[in-house]
Amino acid sequence: MKEAFLQAIPVLNKIESAGYEAYFVGGAVRDFLLGKEIADVDIATSATPEELKSIFSKTLDVGIEHGTVVVLFNGIPYEVTTFRTEAEYLDFRRPSEVQFIRSLEEDLKRRDFTMNAIAMDRHGKFIDPFGGKKAIEERVIRTVGNPDERFTEDALRMMRAVRFYSQLSFEIEKSTYEALSSLAHLLEKIAVERKLAEFEKLLAGWNRMMALKIIGETGLYKYLPQMSAFQKQLCSSANYHAEGLTGEEMWGLLTCLFDIDQAGAESFFKSWKLPVKKTRKILSILKWIRYRSDNEWDAYSLYQAGRESLLSAEKIRNVLQHTDLKRNTDNLMELYNTLPIKQRSELQLTGNDLMNWFGKPPGAWIKADLEKAENAVLKGELRNSNESIREWLMKCNQNLGKN
Ligand code: ATP
Ligand code: MG
Repeated sequence: MKEAFLQAIPVLNKIESAGYEAYFVGGAVRDFLLGKEIADVDIATSATPEELKSIFSKTLDVGIEHGTVVVLFNGIPYEVTTFRTEAEYLDFRRPSEVQFIRSLEEDLKRRDFTMNAIAMDRHGKFIDPFGGKKAIEERVIRTVGNPDERFTEDALRMMRAVRFYSQLSFEIEKSTYEALSSLAHLLEKIAVERKLAEFEKLLAGWNRMMALKIIGETGLYKYLPQMSAFQKQLCSSANYHAEGLTGEEMWGLLTCLFDIDQAGAESFFKSWKLPVKKTRKILSILKWIRYRSDNEWDAYSLYQAGRESLLSAEKIRNVLQHTDLKRNTDNLMELYNTLPIKQRSELQLTGNDLMNWFGKPPGAWIKADLEKAENAVLKGELRNSNESIREWLMKCNQNLGKN
């Protein structure tokens, strides 16, 4: 058994000593069977949240309304969820109430895909009533039970199917795939925040460009924020190889594929409820992609863009133009590294220096002089030392006085 499970065995033991059942479940068991890194170890139990809280001294109530208690054990947080069925589904969203039960099998039955519906006990024995291990061996994503029913209960599962497709590069089983197409419209009812969480995981997956194609082909795109006009682009996204792009760069790439302008991109990110900071970062990258479509990099633009944005812009351009990423960025970094300064704080000049030297009160002239010196240093016309800058500015200002 993997270290992450071994560390968590005392948690199972404690619950079992108190007279309840407890198992490892969900993504950790799936990833373990796949031989992948295990992220979080999740536990399912027959004990209710209240019973769990009397077993462990350190617990947190996050998600208690869904029957989840976080148990802190040896400093590690574990999500421990009471076996439950999902009573009744309203509006194709989450269940209207959670019903706790004492049967593991019933709990596994309410899970989305067979690969996610496997439990493992503390001895490493699998409880797999829905053929999850076989699905993992065959590399297929298949709903537990009838896909139409399962997607109608919770339409987010359709997004989850495609995000697992992206992360795991499994095939989507035929009837599950067909249900994606016929029930795509149910996604309309799902909150943007939940769609976003799955879509971000999709964008980070290995098979993401193919996954975008599926979003286009199944019709799911019609019910995702501001995507309804881009079926063609989504379906042809598999022609691009986006290896090495970060999540932010993927959002940037998407808006380039959709060919939307800066204001359109801003509105697109807003409709997805992307955090403001992230939006700003992507918009800055996009600005430099636009700059580059008409210009070559020069010292000033490299400096203005900064290392991070210029690299991201160049990476996205390489994907769009199917060019060799490494060769292009290596050359660019060489050029960037020759810049005499990389940011304003490295300029050996401050506003205070200027006021002392020229004996003038603060004003717009300070910004102008700082920019003048910054430009000259970047062009290699002026050495970046406080003394040379002072002499140079004095001379400039004298000349200005003469004219
Ligand atoms: P990840 O590695 O991305 O965390 P995961 O499989 O652990 O993948 P989670 O979203 O953390 O995914 O969910 C944990 C488990 O809860 C899943 O494996 C699945 O069994 C179950 N699950 C989560 N969301 C749903 C849902 N909408 N419907 C049914 N079961 C779900
Ligand atoms: Mg998880």
